[in-house]
Amino acid sequence: MSQTYQLYIDGAFVPSESGQTFESRNPYDGSLVATASRGNAADIDKAVQAARRAFDDTAGPWRTMGAQGRADLLLKLSEKIAEHTEAWMPLEIADSGATLKKAQGDFFLAASQMKYFSKLATSYPFKQPLDDMSRAGTSHHYLLKEPVGVCGQIIPWNFPLLMAIWKLGPALAAGCTVVLKPAEETPVSAMELAKLCHEVGFPKGVVNVVTGTGKEAGEPLVQHPGVDKVAFTGSTEIGRHIMAEAAASMKRVTLECGGKSANIILDDADLDIALDGSLYAVFFHSGQCCTAGSRLLIPKSRHDEIVERLVETTRHIRLGNPAEKSTDMGPVISQKQLDRILSLIKTGQAEGATLLAGGHRATGDGLDQGYFIEPTIFDQVDPNSTLAQEEIFGPVLSLLPYTDEAEAVAIANNSQYGLAGAVWSQDQQRAERVAAQLRTGTVWINEYHLINVRAPFGGYKQSGLGRELGPNALDAYTETKHVHVDELGTRDKKFWYNALIKPTSTAAK
Ligand code: ADP
Repeated sequence: MSQTYQLYIDGAFVPSESGQTFESRNPYDGSLVATASRGNAADIDKAVQAARRAFDDTAGPWRTMGAQGRADLLLKLSEKIAEHTEAWMPLEIADSGATLKKAQGDFFLAASQMKYFSKLATSYPFKQPLDDMSRAGTSHHYLLKEPVGVCGQIIPWNFPLLMAIWKLGPALAAGCTVVLKPAEETPVSAMELAKLCHEVGFPKGVVNVVTGTGKEAGEPLVQHPGVDKVAFTGSTEIGRHIMAEAAASMKRVTLECGGKSANIILDDADLDIALDGSLYAVFFHSGQCCTAGSRLLIPKSRHDEIVERLVETTRHIRLGNPAEKSTDMGPVISQKQLDRILSLIKTGQAEGATLLAGGHRATGDGLDQGYFIEPTIFDQVDPNSTLAQEEIFGPVLSLLPYTDEAEAVAIANNSQYGLAGAVWSQDQQRAERVAAQLRTGTVWINEYHLINVRAPFGGYKQSGLGRELGPNALDAYTETKHVHVDELGTRDKKFWYNALIKPTSTAAK
């Protein structure tokens, strides 16, 4: 049965001001998953004002509860996520097209990552002494890391639950208040999270969730003068636009945008691990990951062997109903994405790359109603071609043969993006030498996609701005205040006042 969601504003579930709604449909079979409220500027304004009140009321429940109070609420939220996983997971699968295997990982990570943010609320150094500049009898100094304020948080559809956790967790741990806007394709998880936030008892106005489109709800959120910071995960194109919009009131921004990650197999790699790892890198969640290893750099000396094995293993990837355990790859999210990916495949062929596997919409065997694309592999991809340069966000792998390590590094760095990448080799020193030369925010060695909440995550170049996660995840949600406490105590020692004002006390004469 499909769900109906209202907006969550100021501690209450309310319809949109316009009364309008929109539908979310299952990308596997087109069935109705949810009807959500179509928020617009009026709803955003209400939500921002509620968040503003909750933040600005320094005697209110949120600002007075302190780090321990926030940690307790986040821990309860983490426990609630774990408790509700069984009932909630089928909805997330239907809403986003995630396979059961992916969704299981997402829910496990959602609960455990929220627990991590709960711990961070108390372990983060909100007050930091500046010992090297403090001098007894002269002055002492410290830094206060204070919550940045009201945060507008905009997230995409590929990891609807986890992206909401990555946004809410650190913002709330830092003491901010938030207005979260999920992607219009996937409203379910943010609204289910809103219900749990309500249950665990966040004070009203601390968490607000407004569903709606990017233009109607996202844009007014970015433009709203009551918002202090915007945290965005999505395409580079919209990220650039958001950065420009945020400039008008100099809002703080963190952006986690696109990628075209280079995955380098060195000639001494253990192919048993490297090839499965490389297919996992690109085809996991049908390639709809910002970190997708969509450019696979292979040594010419082992080209034929690698290609043969990749194509053979790809043949065994099972497409099907994402809710079934046996399914390896589900549909892509929408007709729009399906069309875009198929058009990029056509461009790849027109540009002269060699199609080795896939290349079409997948049909038959219960796939006809879904947005399925065959896992696709292109060989001999020109490093400057569209296939190698554009983020496809679908199950399309480009193989780029190289001659030596230096060429591999040059090809890898020939991108506007710099989110992630990997190196496969049995020689750790060599792998680390290559890793050090890659201009990306994450590099895996003999591994892929493992993002740990304990390590900072973000991009170089046009893959983003700032870092999320890790022990300093709260840096992006705090302002830094230097407090200078005078210990001189007497006017006569403050000779610098004399530059402006004649000393008046007898002692100062
Ligand atoms: P994708 O290409 O993955 O759909 P987008 O960057 O278009 O990624 O969308 C990511 C998120 O940004 C979604 O929540 C979407 O609604 C929102 N969004 C899209 N356009 C805008 C905009 N102009 N201003 C603010 N948010 C937007």
